[in-house]
Amino acid sequence: MWKGFLAGLVVANCFEWVAHKYILHGTHRAGQRRYSPVPESMKSHWEHHREVRKTSFHDHGYVEGIRNWRTKNEIVSLAVVATVASGVFYPISKGMSLAALYSAANYYYIHRRAHLEPEWAVKKIPWHYDHHMNSNQDANWCVTKPWFDYILGTRVISSQELQEQNPLGITLPHVMAQGLNHLSAAYFPAKWVEKKVTVAERVA
Ligand SMILES: [Zn+2]
Ligand SMILES: [Zn+2]
Ligand SMILES: [Zn+2]
Repeated sequence: MWKGFLAGLVVANCFEWVAHKYILHGTHRAGQRRYSPVPESMKSHWEHHREVRKTSFHDHGYVEGIRNWRTKNEIVSLAVVATVASGVFYPISKGMSLAALYSAANYYYIHRRAHLEPEWAVKKIPWHYDHHMNSNQDANWCVTKPWFDYILGTRVISSQELQEQNPLGITLPHVMAQGLNHLSAAYFPAKWVEKKVTVAERVA
């Protein structure tokens, strides 16, 4: 059960990366609109980006809740993905099936709270703060945990303050975090961008 659940969390993290990049941001096509298999979700997501850039990481769509079409789009999309994934995984592994449901609920909890409480986001999911506020929005695709951004080389950190304690994105005892950071530096290094503004200035 627990092995399946853990495997499910890894699959869900991979899905976050792929869906965010290819469905929510879409693919650039020369001389045409960006391509997404779900254009409505892409439209909603780009509007989320515009809102967040204007309001120092806030998204008032989450204050309005389900009455807001973007919030509704996110909830419905997550419900569809969770239902399909848990149904597909169920005959293979009950743990994976459960992880699909948990991951969808957790995604909504984390993403919503992050855009209601930017200071919390800076501490808990700095990679998503980087995703929105970095000069390069074409990176940092994971939302709940940065795992696949490290694996695929798309964790781009803008400042020391926005570097997570370790690549798991879970606060660990210092020695363990250090060990993981050494491993990641050797095999899955994060990239850095130069940035002049401090977090404090941007959150304020
Ligand atoms: Zn995005
Ligand atoms: Zn606000
Ligand atoms: Zn966001």
